[in-house]
Amino acid sequence: MKNKFLKGISLWVVIILAALMFANMSTKSKPPEDISYSEFKSYIKSGNVEECEIGAESITGTFVNAAGKKNSFKTVVVADSRLVEELDMLGVKYRGKKEKNWLTALLFNFGPILLFILVWVFLIRSMQGGGKQMMGFAKSKAKLQDTKKKKKTTFDDVAGLDEVKEELKEIISFLKDPKKFQNLGGKIPKGVLLYGAPGTGKTLLARAVAGEAGVPFFSSSGSEFVEMFVGVGASRVRDLFGQGKKNAPCLLFVDELDAVGRRRFSGIGGGHDEREQTLNQILVEMDGFDTRQGVILIAATNRPDVLDPALLRPGRFDRHVAVTSPDIKGREAILKVHARNVKLDKDIDLSIIARRTPGFVGSDLANLVNEAALLAARHDKKTVEMEEMEEAIDRVMAGPERKSQVISEREKKIIAYHESGHAVAASMLEGTDPVHKVSIVPRGPALGYTLQLPLEDKYLITKSELMNKMTVLLGGRTAEELFFKEVTTGAENDLRRSTDLAHRMVCEWGMSERIGPITLKEREGETFLGMDIAKGKEYSEKMAETIDAEVKRVVETCKKRAGEILTKNRSKLKKLADTLVKNESLDGDEVARILGIVKKTKKEKPAAGKKTVQKRKKGRK
Ligand code: ADP
Ligand code: ZN
Repeated sequence: MKNKFLKGISLWVVIILAALMFANMSTKSKPPEDISYSEFKSYIKSGNVEECEIGAESITGTFVNAAGKKNSFKTVVVADSRLVEELDMLGVKYRGKKEKNWLTALLFNFGPILLFILVWVFLIRSMQGGGKQMMGFAKSKAKLQDTKKKKKTTFDDVAGLDEVKEELKEIISFLKDPKKFQNLGGKIPKGVLLYGAPGTGKTLLARAVAGEAGVPFFSSSGSEFVEMFVGVGASRVRDLFGQGKKNAPCLLFVDELDAVGRRRFSGIGGGHDEREQTLNQILVEMDGFDTRQGVILIAATNRPDVLDPALLRPGRFDRHVAVTSPDIKGREAILKVHARNVKLDKDIDLSIIARRTPGFVGSDLANLVNEAALLAARHDKKTVEMEEMEEAIDRVMAGPERKSQVISEREKKIIAYHESGHAVAASMLEGTDPVHKVSIVPRGPALGYTLQLPLEDKYLITKSELMNKMTVLLGGRTAEELFFKEVTTGAENDLRRSTDLAHRMVCEWGMSERIGPITLKEREGETFLGMDIAKGKEYSEKMAETIDAEVKRVVETCKKRAGEILTKNRSKLKKLADTLVKNESLDGDEVARILGIVKKTKKEKPAAGKKTVQKRKKGRK
């Protein structure tokens, strides 16, 4: 991008230089002959000098030279008091010459170089000044996609991701008619953060939101805001928001938000100045605009963990939506979307291809269909057959564009048993939150997840509930031990969380009989220049030992319980894990069916009323 701009400038410089040189050349088309003063005198005497111009340092004129040709000449002046007299005598026309002074000579000779330097100085200054927007350098590179002209992207082009679509529907109806919301006084999030692995369709979703709402879509990328020159990023941000306000209602999209939105450093030293300045500008702009103007900002990142907390505060990107990698059904749906544009042989079964491509995300699958179509063309076929599909899978798998890792069959199995361990423990224990979803599709750093959703908001947690929670957490590791006689590193997060819970039970909530109802906190020290200078324990070494022993005991009790539950339900666990390997993700009802239990539901209030309460809460968050 920047190169293009520099190219444009240098083209102009070359044109100007060429013009100057041409002008220079045409004034002195034929070089004058250099003759000595004595020769000059003899030419005068022989009557061959037609006219001359006498200057302080040189004499120029026209004469007929020795070869009999008319030409111009030049000679150096000699102190000759009789020259004028002689010229008069012989009737030669002469006149005095105004000598160029040094300034004009300088300009004439060094003009082009001077101009060149001036242009550069101007260029550099305008880049640093930022505000001047010389030739649009400081303008945002936001690309406008007019949703009316091109075939617009809609939710039909986005396969799967139903929960994400549901979340975004509110924004669409707002963009369609901002006035309506304004009158109702409803509050709409200013910014939505979509996070998930590369190629999972974040950009596609944002575009589809604009398409569904029929508003302009401005897309830009965080990396464009991080420039070499100070101030350019900030001014591009200003410009992006300026465009947004001008074209409201519209949707602004910032890809790779983490490129500019990384956590700022506090304390002495600070971070990357330019990036911070740009980030601050984003914060200022977000605070400055009002959703009622009809501008919504959607940003995408695959590293939500590194973002500056200020970006995620209420009034900024306060709505966070996970865009997960597709499971087997999702992959089939994505393949179906992309297969609309190619001719498939009738005995191609997309579900088989979905099964063969674990770990593939949307962009991989789009790529796969495209490769297969190209291969079919190369094989002179009218339709894409299974053979091309198979080859395309290998190509995409090996290709440079694949960013996500592939999980081996064995790893997949271990993950499935681990997650099933959580799910079985959660389902079999009384008083735990019901299992909402189990999945072995990677999500962020986790290789799989078991999602439990509470039936109601809780403000107090009992000791037995905490113990249950820890039992569920330890169920994953326990299942690995039970079925593989070997443990993996996969349980790190579970162990940390259960240990943490046990520690808090003992030290903060007074839930250990041996220690009793007292709190044992680490003293918080004063912070000076960002460092703790006086951190220490408020209790003795002996107490510390007792705490450690109690924490260990609590964790081990839960571990034992998990072992008992899983051993008792061994065959059910196996059935669940095997189904999980096949389907990759299961919802709560399916889990309950496989385990042969009645799914926990809320007893009193109807579920519908509950749902709206939760939704409203999300909006306020
Ligand atoms: P991200 O922004 O998350 O990196 P993109 O939105 O750029 O990913 O996705 C790249 C391409 O992958 C899209 O243009 C689309 O062709 C394909 N794709 C990704 N997810 C989906 C999906 N859910 N349904 C259909 N196509 C998808
Ligand atoms: Zn786990």
